[in-house]
Amino acid sequence: MENNDNQPMRLGPKGLISKQELVKLIIQCLNSLGYDASAISLESQSHISYRTPPFDLLERQILLGDWESLTLAVFQDIRDDIRAIVLFLTIRQFIVECVIRGDDATALGILRKDFSALGLRQDRIAPIAYIIIAKNKIGGPGGLGDIDDGVIVEMRRDLVSRLEELILAPNRRLECLVEKALDAQRSSCTYHNLEDSISLYEDHHSCGKVYFPTETLQILTHHTDEVWYIQFSNNGEYLASGSSDFQTIIWQVWENGNLILRQRLRGHQSPVYFVSWSPDDTKLLTCGYHVLKFWEVNTGRLICTFLEQSAILSSCAWFPNSEGLIFGCSGPNRRKHMYKFDDKSFIELSGSDNPMAGNVATASNSNFICFFTRNEIFIQDVGKLGMNTERKITENSEITSVCVSKDGNHLIVNLNNQEIHVWDTAGKLVKPLVYQGHKQARFVIHSCFGGLDSMFIASGSEDSQVYIWNRQSSKPIEILSGHSMVVNCVSWNPKRHYMLASASDD
Ligand SMILES: [Zn+2]
Repeated sequence: MENNDNQPMRLGPKGLISKQELVKLIIQCLNSLGYDASAISLESQSHISYRTPPFDLLERQILLGDWESLTLAVFQDIRDDIRAIVLFLTIRQFIVECVIRGDDATALGILRKDFSALGLRQDRIAPIAYIIIAKNKIGGPGGLGDIDDGVIVEMRRDLVSRLEELILAPNRRLECLVEKALDAQRSSCTYHNLEDSISLYEDHHSCGKVYFPTETLQILTHHTDEVWYIQFSNNGEYLASGSSDFQTIIWQVWENGNLILRQRLRGHQSPVYFVSWSPDDTKLLTCGYHVLKFWEVNTGRLICTFLEQSAILSSCAWFPNSEGLIFGCSGPNRRKHMYKFDDKSFIELSGSDNPMAGNVATASNSNFICFFTRNEIFIQDVGKLGMNTERKITENSEITSVCVSKDGNHLIVNLNNQEIHVWDTAGKLVKPLVYQGHKQARFVIHSCFGGLDSMFIASGSEDSQVYIWNRQSSKPIEILSGHSMVVNCVSWNPKRHYMLASASDD
């Protein structure tokens, strides 16, 4: 089907949209939604095709493995850099197939050809020679020789799908564009915290604070001394609080949003300053000076106690896969231990890069564990513990606490220079986002992510207030009062985005 529209019309109030491109993307979208008949009908009515005859031909030739007559016509009308990638991927597939059928001579012949006229430099193609050299190591136990026809067909389909993205349009392009527009509106709404509150039918302006934690809903007074740490369970149905009255209390969140005392966990002989929920919320760890206790949540039964007389246990965390737990010791004898549930073994983790790291942090959906020292954080993949392959973040001030986002993509680092840094764990760890306004100089203050898609950060503060930032801005959007002493810790309910708990010395 030919496109007869030689003068493409521009659409949109500012004329920014090419009608031709838009119609193509609508056809792609209809196909991805399964409305194939509508897509065909639209192509017929508009005389615009999403696919092109050269691409259809290329697809047929690749799927049939007809490499000898492979047309290069499709490579003429695309950008030079994209054409080079298309060529590279196609040549690589051809060489893999040559090697699989034992035809190394043809593979080598292709490698000797000069593709520079088509924009592909010889030095880019040279690494493909590795496929021929290492054919016994690629693709499973027996190398490429073990690959059957079914796998080859699958590889060809993958290649076509990759080329389609490069030559025609990225996958689900229209859907991505629309979502970007919605995301931009959401990002400009300071208090946006309610799911399903953005519609395609109208512009989203401002949510207001109706669904945002700004007012005190309830004051929990069952502890008889300072509360040092609180944490909502992963399912948002419980809150655990550790106090210097030596107790941990588990609170249950009712349907109406009220919290009631469910049970007291007694047994520590010193303040409880850290708690950690297991990824499935059935177990709870509580940390005292030399003691780590391991509880069953449903019954309140103490499962076991770990003693570490020679050091102070400073923090604890679960392996993201629930296979074990890890705890750090602070003080002069800093070190970290791993406990594995399957064989009930303790392992002391040293690692030459971070022998002094005693504090630990992790999150249920991450695949790494953080250790931190006075001003350094080490990020270690769970599968590589003790292998000295940590990635490192160095801070200029003393670190007081670290919190990992639920999805494991970001870290909050609290510093005693009145700054909170947020690092992108998937990035290059060059520069953090900085948040300021709260007071922190003397005590350990804990912060957390929270709200819809973890778009907010909350923190305790030494000026007895709770600070909340939208992650887009370094200045707080809310400063909540109500406490009369240092706010040590905050925890945002992961399911009820309007619910934030704060714990204080008062
Ligand atoms: Zn909003």
